[in-house]
Amino acid sequence: AGKRAGRRSIVAFEPDMLGDERHRRFVERELRAAILLNELALHYQPILAADGTTVTSYEALVRWQHKVRGMISPADFIGIAEQSDLIDKLGEWVLRRALGDLPQLGAVGVNVSPVQLRRTDFVERFAAILAERAADPKKVTVEITESVPLLAGDVELANLARLRALGVRVAIDDFGAGHASLYYLRRFAFDVIKIDRTYVANIGENRVDAMIVSAICEIARSLPVEVVAEGVETETQLTLLKAAGCTGFQGYHLGRPQPLARLASAVAAAAA
Ligand code: C2E
Ligand code: MG
Ligand code: MG
Ligand code: MG
Repeated sequence: AGKRAGRRSIVAFEPDMLGDERHRRFVERELRAAILLNELALHYQPILAADGTTVTSYEALVRWQHKVRGMISPADFIGIAEQSDLIDKLGEWVLRRALGDLPQLGAVGVNVSPVQLRRTDFVERFAAILAERAADPKKVTVEITESVPLLAGDVELANLARLRALGVRVAIDDFGAGHASLYYLRRFAFDVIKIDRTYVANIGENRVDAMIVSAICEIARSLPVEVVAEGVETETQLTLLKAAGCTGFQGYHLGRPQPLARLASAVAAAAA
């Protein structure tokens, strides 16, 4: 019965079921509680170097393990968290946890919402958590999605520059998914470009997508910036992405997001 209730409740998280505003308030209340009840978890997905075996970093991806509703995907709650201070609380929870796991991970990427980046005290709070965790900033990459309007204002740009000054690496995530990709490249010296997985998905079939990926890599080489391809699902895609000049690779074909405990056992098994 528990399972059935869980499945039914997941449906309740889809908008349209309740009025938009009621749905938002419902999820917001539940999420606020989830942070306090420690119902959030991080899964980590490896990012590999071109040799196909060296893990250079892990991306932290938040999961909401609801007691009744089961696993809830970030796509279903980040947007709602972004409508209030909840995104700041969530972001700080994620950073604190990811940096706590940094000794085992070696290097970590965390997603930061453009809404967080807009806060005038963002970098101050970020730096405080780095210090609290005694984390090496050079081992931390902040991923900022460009799929929503991003560097609209000076606050965002200044915060990115301050992050870099701390030694933190800055990645532009979902590159090509928005409408201003090249504009962002002109306005800020990113350390990493993460090519949106929609280009990766079609690289074998669509000549234009393949050309765009090559062109991004070409630009990146002369800047220079690292280029990570996300959403690599097949060996064919991997081969084409390497040929295009990508320097990092992430996707189900190379490793699924997993809890730290399972990564650690994989590492131990490999070492044994
Ligand atoms: P993202 O940052 O672009 O993360 C990559 C997403 O692609 C993840 O989805 C990952 O599980 C998925 N993915 C990885 N490899 C593959 C693949 O080969 N094929 C396909 N189809 N998908 C793949 P996930 O975990 O559901 O996260 C979705 C988005 O939610 C993230 O996209 C990110 O924008 C956001 N997100 C996740 N965690 C956080 C967080 O802690 N804070 C914030 N602000 N946003 C987060
Ligand atoms: Mg990301
Ligand atoms: Mg991405
Ligand atoms: Mg993406």
